[in-house]
Amino acid sequence: MENCLFCGIAEGKIPSKKVYEDDTFLVFQDIQPAAPVHVLIIPKKHIATMNDVGEEDFAMLGELHRVAQKVAKELGIAETGYRLINNCGPDSGQAVYHIHYHLIGGTKLGALVESSDSHAI
Ligand code: AMP
Ligand code: ZN
Repeated sequence: MENCLFCGIAEGKIPSKKVYEDDTFLVFQDIQPAAPVHVLIIPKKHIATMNDVGEEDFAMLGELHRVAQKVAKELGIAETGYRLINNCGPDSGQAVYHIHYHLIGGTKLGALVESSDSHAI
């Protein structure tokens, strides 16, 4: 997909700090880490959002969990714990429209959701 930041990263046209790569997935350091460990897991296939995942993609996204588990272990946060987060659409604050999962950990994380009217869940 032209003009997609994460397609550019997946194709190596835009630099990133790679943590893991195989034929299907790339994991790289988030440029603005929200915690001591903050990487992004992307499929190399361009899918804009969770809403755009097709029937043919679900098995591949299932495999993404295998990558998340492996990378969490390699980054030393498997036992201490972590979050795997996908933002979908405007209310979530999704900024990059190429599906990605934040793998975040390395510290005690705060409230999962804080809505814009400040009600923490
Ligand atoms: P989201 O709000 O879920 O779309 O998250 C997008 C994430 O991509 C943010 O955490 C950004 O810090 C991160 N990001 C944006 N540009 C880059 C980049 N060039 N390399 C690595 N991470 C990036
Ligand atoms: Zn893309």
